[in-house]
Amino acid sequence: MIQHFINNKFVPSAEGKSFETLNPTTNKPIDSVASGTAADIDAAVKAARKAFDEGPWPRMSADERGKYLRKIGDLIIKHADEIAETEIEDTGIPSSQIKKGAIPRAADNFYFFAEEAKKLTSEVFPVGDKFMNYTVRRPVGVAGLITPWNTPFMLETWKTAPCLAGGNTCVLKPAEWSPLSADKLARIIQEADIPPGVFNLVHGFGESAGASLVAHPQVQLISFTGETSTGKEIIRNGAGTLKRFSMELGGKSPTIVFNDADFDRALDGATFQVYSLNGERCTAGSRLLLQQGIYDKFVSALEARVKNIRVGDPHEAQTEVGPLIHPEHWQRVRAYMDVARQEGAKIAVGGERPTGMTDGNYFAPTLITGVKNSMRIAQEEVFGPVLVVIPFKDDEEALRIANDIQYGLAAYIWTSNVARGQHIAERIESGLAWVNSHNVRDLRTPFGGSKNSGIGREGGHYSFEFYMEMATVHVALGNHHIPTMGKENKK
Ligand code: NAD
Repeated sequence: MIQHFINNKFVPSAEGKSFETLNPTTNKPIDSVASGTAADIDAAVKAARKAFDEGPWPRMSADERGKYLRKIGDLIIKHADEIAETEIEDTGIPSSQIKKGAIPRAADNFYFFAEEAKKLTSEVFPVGDKFMNYTVRRPVGVAGLITPWNTPFMLETWKTAPCLAGGNTCVLKPAEWSPLSADKLARIIQEADIPPGVFNLVHGFGESAGASLVAHPQVQLISFTGETSTGKEIIRNGAGTLKRFSMELGGKSPTIVFNDADFDRALDGATFQVYSLNGERCTAGSRLLLQQGIYDKFVSALEARVKNIRVGDPHEAQTEVGPLIHPEHWQRVRAYMDVARQEGAKIAVGGERPTGMTDGNYFAPTLITGVKNSMRIAQEEVFGPVLVVIPFKDDEEALRIANDIQYGLAAYIWTSNVARGQHIAERIESGLAWVNSHNVRDLRTPFGGSKNSGIGREGGHYSFEFYMEMATVHVALGNHHIPTMGKENKK
């Protein structure tokens, strides 16, 4: 039984409830997990509150906290294989993408923010010889960290590291479909001997554990990654206790390939950017916009590639696409195929369970052509290995199609004319854009979405705009004039 982690101890649910997490290759239970309710959240928040109000963590220097964070990074590397096996079993993400991607990046999140917190500076606003005004940063308080089921370990560390580096304490509520690697994180944090109550973990469902965390009056911050509709509900539910929110939400990002692009690199980029992580990727380039001159050649090359993608057991090194997370999600992705057909689009490749793969949540990598941007299949986030292709004439039309959507998370532009690439990138309504590259992250840069893809930016020093409070101190340096009241009016 996987338990909660409160005040540096593993504990069962107050109400004794539990749920099972399934292996997506078979849909058989892997383990049962404590299911948190308001009582567990309250215990975790109280532990975090006590650690914040009375414990050493918020009062340590960034350097002292950094030592703990680096130790956590080292322990992630030490336990990398074990974490990776757990993550693969729980999520179905292929081994190569977890081992070479998500786990090293999780350790980097701790190493990076350990250093970044030390670089924080204040601003000084001198007013002649009369005043010295300056800013100070301090931790905010207790943070609720709510994460989704895709690449859970990486996303949990992406929130936990800057939150703790900034001196806050936290309660993590991982997704109910992939809770196991969060347990590994708690064990590592326990091994790193971090003070009690600084990091707490409560498992459970969104509507019970998640909602209780959002509504808790002693929580000041909510960092949420998940669906846009959930984000909206969380903002509504947190309004009563006036939370500060960071929202990393859904996407339907365009990959735009111009006639003059390096064909082979664009093909590699377009393919990897949507089918990696089983297509369960917030920054997936899931709308492919192709300029008319290369449309036919690119689509036929893509068809050959997509048919050739190796779907299989995620534990096997050569597997490129594994099973989707959960049977319910499989049904949702499958239902979009009917939506696409009804709208008049053509399923050129895939669109169903791969032949012979009767168990688990396998879904064949899918390519859909004959798509108009107004169709639901082009507008809605499918969150699976599904790519829609839309032709365009020129730069202006590419931009118009790219921006004609509620989302604005990422964009990928492929052209040999870098000036054009930059020009388009700067006019795309997305928080992130890559020119002639797939999604290569630099942790110093701000990450986040515009429009319905999110609010706020995390990454680099931008994370601390969310995870730290800024205050201003005004110091008088001399005897400036103070207006008097009630001094000379005595009759
Ligand atoms: P989800 O919104 O269903 O759930 C995310 C988390 O919120 C889970 O832990 C869930 O239990 C919790 N939750 C659900 N209802 C809640 C409530 N009322 N109050 C508090 N917590 C609640 O998302 P998901 O299906 O787990 O993840 C997929 C989504 O996440 C996709 O839309 C994807 O684009 C998005 N995502 C975004 C980013 C980004 O950085 N922008 C990164 C990864 C995933």
